[in-house]
Amino acid sequence: MLVERTGTPDVMQLRDVPRPAPRAGQVLLRVEAVGVNFADVLNVAGQYLTAPKLPHIPGMELAGTVEALGEGVSGVQVGQRVAALGGTGGLAEYAAVPAAGLVPVPDSFTPAQAAAFPVSYMTAYHALKTLGRGEAGEWVLVQAAAGALGTASVQLAVALGMKVIALASTEEKLQIARDLGADVTILQDDPERVQKVREAAGGQGVPLLLEAVGGARFEESLKMVAPLGRIVFIGNASREEVSLNPAALMKRNISVTGLWLTSLMTDPRISAAAAQGLTPLIASGKVVPQVGPTYALADSPRAFQDMLDRKTTGKVIIEP
Ligand code: NDP
Repeated sequence: MLVERTGTPDVMQLRDVPRPAPRAGQVLLRVEAVGVNFADVLNVAGQYLTAPKLPHIPGMELAGTVEALGEGVSGVQVGQRVAALGGTGGLAEYAAVPAAGLVPVPDSFTPAQAAAFPVSYMTAYHALKTLGRGEAGEWVLVQAAAGALGTASVQLAVALGMKVIALASTEEKLQIARDLGADVTILQDDPERVQKVREAAGGQGVPLLLEAVGGARFEESLKMVAPLGRIVFIGNASREEVSLNPAALMKRNISVTGLWLTSLMTDPRISAAAAQGLTPLIASGKVVPQVGPTYALADSPRAFQDMLDRKTTGKVIIEP
């Protein structure tokens, strides 16, 4: 799926291109499943944190089998099943990706589960623990709780012993959050939502809030956290302007921390700590990647449009 200009998802075109050759430090993967992230959707639209290189093949998170190794690559073998993160080019039959972004996957994961894992679960881990400093027994509020990051965050928070308040736009989405163990679920357009969040968390609000929607909602988030509360700003899915009055932070001693997985991953100690935290939870079956709807490669524009239209839950998967 080639993108030659930014725009609506239908700018992606199915084209025949040469199979990529792995450069030094890369591996060639036969792609089995691609996890679609909101970042891919924003990137095609030209609205992501970094400007897209054109032309490009989208797809930063994928699972597949190692087909060939570029120069200088060690520690991985041809035929090995892996997930890969941080490159581009996933929406294709073959992709050359950086060896440094390979993530080992347990044999128990299907290709779709492997492709659903790295971005959402590592981001959720960093939001809840690395930056959010969440502790067992604490309340956490998860926005857009039925999306890819949302389902990962609810599941991981429950696995870490935290108590979860989930917000989402429909009753069906709230049911997904309840099925994953959310303690309290509230429609995000409930007129009483701020009061309900505060009451559910003991009267003053939650100590930790994961902000994924942003826009005008952010002002409400400030009212939903308790004094000394922490907000981790992960995403602005609403794509609206966010305004922040420092007085609102000062009056109640609230911290707001930004999170971008791409830049966090450049610190190997931080990534290793996340992997160490996640590994036992996967082994015990408490963390199981939430695979959402699956589309064929040629239907990628529809997959992207369905995400923009908030029709999907869990991680959207594309299979070449
Ligand atoms: P999903 O598409 O799975 O989830 C997005 C959710 O956002 C939807 O389910 C929807 O939930 C909600 N939403 C609210 N307003 C809108 C809108 N105007 N258009 C579309 N969706 C909207 O995506 P991801 O799980 O991949 O991403 C979720 C958020 O987290 C995004 O903002 C993304 O950019 C961010 N993210 C950031 C990362 C980082 O490193 N900082 C890493 C991964 C994700 P509902 O209908 O319930 O409101």
